[in-house]
Amino acid sequence: MKYVSQPRAIVRHRRWTIALGVVMMSVLVGPVLVPVVLYGFFGFDTHSFLAGLGPATRYLAASALFAVLLAVFVTAMYSTIVWRRRSSPSEGIACPSCLYMLKDTEPAGQCPECGMSYVVEDLSSLWAGQRRKENCVFQLDLLFLGDDWSALPRAIARHRRRVIVSGLAHRMLFAVGLGLFPVWILLFRDSPLFLYVTLIAFGIENVILFGVYFPLESRWQRRIGKEVTMLCPECLSQTVRSPDGLSRCQACGAVMGSDALTALWARERERADWPRFSAHR
Ligand SMILES: [Zn+2]
Ligand SMILES: [Zn+2]
Repeated sequence: MKYVSQPRAIVRHRRWTIALGVVMMSVLVGPVLVPVVLYGFFGFDTHSFLAGLGPATRYLAASALFAVLLAVFVTAMYSTIVWRRRSSPSEGIACPSCLYMLKDTEPAGQCPECGMSYVVEDLSSLWAGQRRKENCVFQLDLLFLGDDWSALPRAIARHRRRVIVSGLAHRMLFAVGLGLFPVWILLFRDSPLFLYVTLIAFGIENVILFGVYFPLESRWQRRIGKEVTMLCPECLSQTVRSPDGLSRCQACGAVMGSDALTALWARERERADWPRFSAHR
């Protein structure tokens, strides 16, 4: 069964995301656009417009803009994490129309909440497509907070934690740099200090992005790509496979089913969440 129109919950989520984006862009370009509107296109003069506002008004406007940006940023992240948790396959499959969790093991059925009929296989690919789309937009990492990664074996959880921390750091610096820009336009257009702070924030952000964030995942994929089924997911030492179908870690003594271990690493390698930069085997 193909979905002719997009299911309601997905459409609602997309509208919400677009609305947040529009608010964010308005705040960012507002200080430039307002004089254009008020003075008319040919009379466009940000400087004289701002000079006419008076320092108290400008200070108030700058603080308000910064507060709105921060609020939108936090809301967007929170909403993304909650959405990710809802669409996570570990929790069952969500009805794409009302987000009811379909725990049914039947290959097809009707949502008991909203009555929409579904085929499990189609739902899986629908949600997988949604997750890929998200990943392209946000390039990832903070999304893992919605995946309950902390329940994973230690070595994988540790890697996840590092990716999240470096992702959070570069994202926060990006938001600060972006948020300071309208403040600089409104308040300190004669002093370059805020512009310098903005540029420094962007600079450090790029160092973290290209020096830590991308290499982190790239090294991880190289490592797990090489010794596919043999690594212990707790400590990354070698495991030995015995005829009884179990794999034993030489270093920490962890024991797990060989097939489960193979499947775990296959999932880890095939995850589409990662920055595209590091997609190599
Ligand atoms: Zn439903
Ligand atoms: Zn081990």
